[in-house]
Amino acid sequence: MLALEQAIRIIEAQDTWDVNDDLCDCTYQFMSYYNNPYIGETYEVRLCCLYAEFEKQYPQFFKRVQIEPAEWNGESDMPRSIYHRQLSKLHGLSVSEARMIAGETPRGKPRASKPQMWLLSPWGEVLAELG
Ligand SMILES: [Zn+2]
Repeated sequence: MLALEQAIRIIEAQDTWDVNDDLCDCTYQFMSYYNNPYIGETYEVRLCCLYAEFEKQYPQFFKRVQIEPAEWNGESDMPRSIYHRQLSKLHGLSVSEARMIAGETPRGKPRASKPQMWLLSPWGEVLAELG
């Protein structure tokens, strides 16, 4: 646990990228974190932007299967980053254009009972509520 606590302190001490930081226009924001508390460093890779560059060079290795965007059904309000991408898809706009027309994000819909289990990140952050 000491290493985990140290890893949490390292991450809290610096500006880290987050899957919902909305700092890029990638459709799917995802990051990779390699944390080594024994050298006091976190190595972050912004995989979404890296994949976007790969897709430009090797389009034959990427495909997008289209379906109708679903209505938000999360317990908490929809993250702005996801809302911008949903608006982008619904209106055929770029993510940058969607940011400019975005209003209030769809509200969360709390469930009647409390979940029994949570999916936690290596840093103890609740990623999903299960059950
Ligand atoms: Zn990106």
